[in-house]
Amino acid sequence: MTAMSEHLLRLVALQDLDDMIRESKDKALAKKLENMGFAMGGQEDLQAARDELATGIDKVLLSRYERAVKRLGRAVVPVTGNICLGCFAVIPAAFVSAENQEKIQHCENCGRILYWPRGS
Ligand SMILES: [Zn+2]
Repeated sequence: MTAMSEHLLRLVALQDLDDMIRESKDKALAKKLENMGFAMGGQEDLQAARDELATGIDKVLLSRYERAVKRLGRAVVPVTGNICLGCFAVIPAAFVSAENQEKIQHCENCGRILYWPRGS
């Protein structure tokens, strides 16, 4: 695995944490988080985990992510069957080489950061 794809995997994890932080602010979803092992005050734990994870991510990539979140909502989306799951545009086949999957790629249509889930 290259260093870059590791950053990308961390970014995907960061996005999941951001989702959970957002959800933890929702009372109805607080119980769900509790069931996942986040006790009361779990929001602080989540934020701490998020901050720690963020320090391991390439700064340029992180700022791209944060800009994309503001603009698009969901910044990092998987590609399945050559389709961007952010906007459902077809990713050109030439784009989908094993080599490209190791790099940080943006959807040409919506600009979201793309990743290829394992086994796709
Ligand atoms: Zn797209």
